[in-house]
Amino acid sequence: MCPLCAHPAQLRDNENAIDTLSVACMTCGKFSLPGLLFFTFFDFHNSESSEKALLRYLSGYTRHASERGEEIFLDVDNWNEFATAHANTSVATKLTRFLEIIAARSKPGKSGELDRTIDAPLLDAFDSDEVIFLAKTLHQRELIDYAGSDFYSLTAKGWEAIQSAGVNGIPGRCFVAMSFHDSLKDAYDNGIFLAVKNDCKMDPIRIDRVHHNEKICDKIVAEIRTCQFLIADVTLQRAGVYFEAGFAMGLGRQVIWTCRDDDLKNVHFDTRQYNHIVWKEPGDLRMQLADRIKATIPSTI
Ligand SMILES: [Zn+2]
Repeated sequence: MCPLCAHPAQLRDNENAIDTLSVACMTCGKFSLPGLLFFTFFDFHNSESSEKALLRYLSGYTRHASERGEEIFLDVDNWNEFATAHANTSVATKLTRFLEIIAARSKPGKSGELDRTIDAPLLDAFDSDEVIFLAKTLHQRELIDYAGSDFYSLTAKGWEAIQSAGVNGIPGRCFVAMSFHDSLKDAYDNGIFLAVKNDCKMDPIRIDRVHHNEKICDKIVAEIRTCQFLIADVTLQRAGVYFEAGFAMGLGRQVIWTCRDDDLKNVHFDTRQYNHIVWKEPGDLRMQLADRIKATIPSTI
């Protein structure tokens, strides 16, 4: 049984860590957690505690990471904040995401499936009732056709709404350009992600470059177009980060530059003129970044 959603799931011992379980769940994706935490979550399901409700949102975190090919390691210290981050997603963001999922799974004139249970975490929806609420809202706004099943199609107005998102970006959406080296994983999870999602109630978008090819580049460009602003962490000086930041600036998007202090001396000459947030560890990156976003990016709430 999956410790997050309580549906059937595959469980196995994680070969890389002692007393750790790997879970593969249709709804929550793939993730690992210590055996002790597994039983803690299990206890939540047998109570009506507030933590039980948070587990639904934790599914949103693990599923989103899974979709981009990353396997999350949950622990006693991090799970609560990751869950809270996904509990605060705005309805406007959920509605936009709903449209995007249908657009990705359908064609004009053809319908695509969004399973009200399995796909609820992709929308940060609490349960299937909330998925139906979102569907009905989009239907009332004449953006989708909805006939009660899990198959939806976008109306012409819906396709136009999706396509026009590339003009000024979707309010509150933030593209994160950074190196995906393991040494920066913590800086993303506990720094950038929590600053954007938890502290500013905005939506970070990150694309891992496990399969770096032309197709992924197209996807990156398309994703940058849909964002209101971009965070460029130039630590480790990956060329792609500079390219993505330059592309966003060309579209008129604001770019917030960040760099770990031991690498600041290596920052490319022509971007040194921009004021970088210089950070030492994920906690201070999170604090400085949240302050900068609140001060410079118009809020959607
Ligand atoms: Zn699950």
